[in-house]
Amino acid sequence: WTDRLFGGFRKTSEKLTSNLIEVGTARLDDATLDDVEDALILSDLGPGAAARIREKLRDKRFGLEITERELKEAVAEEIAAILRPVAKPLEITAFPRPQVLLVIGVNGSGKTTTIAKLAHLFQEDDYAVMLAAGDTFRAAAIGQLQTWADRVGVPIVRGPEGGDPASIVFDAVKKATEIGTDVLIVDTAGRLQNKRELMDELAKIRKVLGRLNPDAPHDVVLVLDATNGQNALAQIDVFKEVAGVTGLVMTKLDGTARGGVLVQAAEQYGLPIHAIGVGEKIDDLRPFDPDLVARVIA
Ligand code: GDP
Repeated sequence: WTDRLFGGFRKTSEKLTSNLIEVGTARLDDATLDDVEDALILSDLGPGAAARIREKLRDKRFGLEITERELKEAVAEEIAAILRPVAKPLEITAFPRPQVLLVIGVNGSGKTTTIAKLAHLFQEDDYAVMLAAGDTFRAAAIGQLQTWADRVGVPIVRGPEGGDPASIVFDAVKKATEIGTDVLIVDTAGRLQNKRELMDELAKIRKVLGRLNPDAPHDVVLVLDATNGQNALAQIDVFKEVAGVTGLVMTKLDGTARGGVLVQAAEQYGLPIHAIGVGEKIDDLRPFDPDLVARVIA
C-alpha cells in the first residue's frame, strides 16, 4: 500500500518539492533555511514546527554542502521526530471485552466511513466487531451506518431516529457482551453547533457505559478532515474539552496538500494519531506510519 499512500499524498509532496526545487547543491546558508521554513509553512506545518525544524537543520548542518535530496531527507527526519511520539495504532486489549470505541467528529469529516474502515480492519485481524448507531440526530446517519454494516458484514445495534443514544449504547454493550464481541464501535452525533447538548449527550453515554464497565469507553476517537486545515485543529480544542478525546484519525489525506496539518496536530496537542484516511473505499485507512508520512510530506 506504500505506492498508494504516496500516490494519495502526491500533492503535498509536490508542493514542498516545488518550493525547494532551486536548492540544487549548496552550502546550507540562512537564505536556504528561509526557503525551507517558508516551504514548510506553506505545507501547513505551522510557524512553530517550521521554525523548530529550521533551527534543528541549522544546528546540525549549517555551512555544510548539502544536496537537494539530502536536504529533503533531513527535513523528513525532523518531521518524523515530531510524529513518532504520537504514532499509536488502536489496539484491542480490553478485558473484559468488548473494547468500546466512541467515534466523534463533525458531520462530513468522514466519521461514518472511518467507522466502517475500522470495522473492516479489525475484522481482518479476526476480531468480532459490532457497530452502534448512536448518531440519532441526523436522519440519514442510521441508514448510512446500516449500509456500511451490511457491506462489511458486522452486526449493528440501532434505534429510532431521534432515539436516546445512551439507551442504544446500553443495548449494544449488553448484546456485544452476550455474543462475545471484541470491539464495539459507537457512532455519535457530531453537532458542535450545540456544545451543551453534545456534552450532555456524551456525558449520558459515558454514565451508562461506566455502569456496565468502569473502563468504558476505552477509546474516544476524533475524526478530522485534513482538507479543513486550521479548522480541523480548532476542532481538536473543542472536542478535547467536550468529549475527552484520546486519539485522532485524520481523513482525506489523499488529494490534499494538507499533510502538514498532521505535524501541527502532533506538535500542538500530542494526542495519539491512530490512522489516516487516504480514500473513500473500505480499505483506504492506513495505520499511521510516521516515517512514511514524513517522507511523503517532505
Ligand atoms: P460523516 O458525515 O462524518 O459521517 O462523513 P462520511 O463518512 O459520510 O464521509 C463524508 C464524505 O467524505 C463521503 O463522501 C466519504 O466518501 C468521504 N471520505 C471519507 N473519508 C475519506 C478519505 O479518507 N478520503 C476521501 N477522498 N474521502 C473520504
